[in-house]
Amino acid sequence: MALKSWVDSANRHTDFPLENLPYGVFRVGRRGHIGVAIGERILDLHGAFDDGLIAEEACTRETLNELMSRGREAALALRARLMELLADGAAERQKVARHLISRKEAEMLLPCAIGDYTDFYASIQHATNVGSMFRPDNPLLPNYKYVPIGYHGRASSIVISGTPFHRPLGQTRDDATAPPIYGPSKRLDYEMEVGLFIGRGNDLGETIPIDGAESHIFGLCLVNDWSARDIQTWEYQPLGPFLAKNFATTVSPWVVTLDALEPFRVAPYARAEDDPAPLPYLSFDGDRGINLMLEVSIKTPAMTEPMRVSRGNFREMYWTIAQLVAHHGSNGCNLRAGDLLASGTVSGAEKESRGCLLERTWRGTEPLELPNGDRRTFLEDGDEVIMRGWCEKDGLRIGFGECRGTVLPARA
Ligand code: MN
Repeated sequence: MALKSWVDSANRHTDFPLENLPYGVFRVGRRGHIGVAIGERILDLHGAFDDGLIAEEACTRETLNELMSRGREAALALRARLMELLADGAAERQKVARHLISRKEAEMLLPCAIGDYTDFYASIQHATNVGSMFRPDNPLLPNYKYVPIGYHGRASSIVISGTPFHRPLGQTRDDATAPPIYGPSKRLDYEMEVGLFIGRGNDLGETIPIDGAESHIFGLCLVNDWSARDIQTWEYQPLGPFLAKNFATTVSPWVVTLDALEPFRVAPYARAEDDPAPLPYLSFDGDRGINLMLEVSIKTPAMTEPMRVSRGNFREMYWTIAQLVAHHGSNGCNLRAGDLLASGTVSGAEKESRGCLLERTWRGTEPLELPNGDRRTFLEDGDEVIMRGWCEKDGLRIGFGECRGTVLPARA
């Protein structure tokens, strides 16, 4: 049963009803202000604090890092207060209304200072598909079902949704009989992923037990891990992705808390009968998967409307978010508030649920037909990729909004 807000647009079909209240940072003059999305509006928490409506002083900072570091309990207390202020019949409605701004007119900034960024590879379908293209005889390496595979990405090139970026230049070798060349990537791809922001961190040398791992997660967002497949193919052995990935990574502006996602918890991915059980430090009980729909659309310069190219579900991931966090901390690596951990490309068993063009067009051999007669194997200059995510159940929708980015031509 949906809760009612006095902000009318929160009661209609929206990603941001009263039960969601995702956090983001928007520009006010030259500063960032922390806000929560509610329907078509944003509640300015900096203003709300100054007006005595909320007591959490971390809401007056320019990024979410301090609020993130205060842990799940502080976040829950703030969430309860915000629900009270925005619920139908709230006594302080007039005062709160002074701190609402239009979401359409807001310029969103990165939600926090991201100190470190790690990208995982948690979809077994994605790992198997990609592996079968590169190693037909041996698609899934023997460590996959034991170790959540990941690599350290780069935080400096993470951009907020809506930021265009230039096609990367790099070293590629299409012709195995000739030396490699340096130039614009010809196989630019997106990767549909879910990101998690670390809240309370752990000290260096301290491990993160699986049972408490989710208490270190502040919330989730959408991530587009743009990937240059031709650069990746040539550079990835033996140390993994490097310049094929770190030219740009796009995140959605709203961080959806695990508290808002609680109604959508489901059983995790069902491992095959003969799959090994996770090692004890990665073993858990309960419904720790999340039933989160994910969708990717493409809009080329010649198209008037975007076309959906894939649709998948985050519950298909082989490793849960708690396992990713527990594994990351299992050697004593310290995670810090605002660190971003991305899931890896979310792909399911169906063709339509494959979360990148490499898989969707099977390395370019099965081009996508666009409504205007054009075809796509990989992204061309001017193409825009739009990702959306949402949970829906019993009339309640908790959405993530959009994660958008447009490819600009390579710099000369
Ligand atoms: Mn990735």
